[in-house]
Amino acid sequence: MRPIYDVPVIQIDVTNACTHECANCTRFVGHYKKPFFMDLKTVEKALDSVKDFPKNIGLMGGEPTLHPQFEEICKLYQEKIPEKRRRRFWTSGYKWKEYEKIIKETFDMDIISYNDHSNKDEGWHQPLLIASDEIIEDKELMWKLIDDCWIQKRWSPSITPKGAFFCEVAAALDMMFDGPGGWPIEKDWWKKEPKDFQDQVKRYCVMCSAAIPLEIPSSHLQYDIISKGNLKRLEKIGSPKYLKKAFKIYDKKYTYEDYKKYFKNWAPGHYRDFVQHDPKKREKDTEIKKPWATFDKNEVCNAGLNAKEKKVKGKQ
Ligand code: SF4
Repeated sequence: MRPIYDVPVIQIDVTNACTHECANCTRFVGHYKKPFFMDLKTVEKALDSVKDFPKNIGLMGGEPTLHPQFEEICKLYQEKIPEKRRRRFWTSGYKWKEYEKIIKETFDMDIISYNDHSNKDEGWHQPLLIASDEIIEDKELMWKLIDDCWIQKRWSPSITPKGAFFCEVAAALDMMFDGPGGWPIEKDWWKKEPKDFQDQVKRYCVMCSAAIPLEIPSSHLQYDIISKGNLKRLEKIGSPKYLKKAFKIYDKKYTYEDYKKYFKNWAPGHYRDFVQHDPKKREKDTEIKKPWATFDKNEVCNAGLNAKEKKVKGKQ
């Protein structure tokens, strides 16, 4: 895993309200009875806490424009993060027309991540709710995969109203399953090395499947793919998606053979075939279809083989 201070962007999740309910959403939209809206004091505190972080600060949802104080939030970004290029914005464009002026004032257009999710033939999301701890019996392989999680390595720690987290999906799991919350949102919380965030890794990564090479389904499906243990957790919280049976159960064991089958063509960060920064123009994404896992394949293979060998030896 990567030190938090080394990642390219820290997200501030100002809401998890969204007009979409994509399958396998990283914020688990559809599983909450009520969305949150971060209050302005917390947004301010969050921005102050990452002021000295040398890279980028994202404005993220859900759909951030659904926040009733979206304009005030943009102004806070302008004030607290003076370098415009460090300010990043993810949107489905829901209220683009209404907020176009302030969006353009706050963010550089060429680095906005715009995705209206309108093309039903495009959009893929790695399943996230198949708990690795439930399906991978080979724990050495499981921890190797988690240690190389593409989301943590390529993207973002996150701040929610419940605190600061080493990973955005961990933050969303904490929110959804009513976890104990993250670290206090205070100056320099992000100066952490992997050894400093193992508490969160042990709590959340074992419930998650981001790091496991699997088949990646369309984000336009009407259901999430979920392991039995996580399904019980969703039942407990009264998840609306659970109640309307918008799920498929994953009840297989994931073996080293599965890893070998899926690894080669697995590109979980490849959400779509285009890049887009505003409602009008889409460009072909040329930087795609390359494998997203960065770990040493032999090392992981050895982990699987070692575990196999150990099993065989154990039986002798
Ligand atoms: S396995 Fe899940 S919780 Fe852990 S770092 Fe990856 S995305 Fe985050």
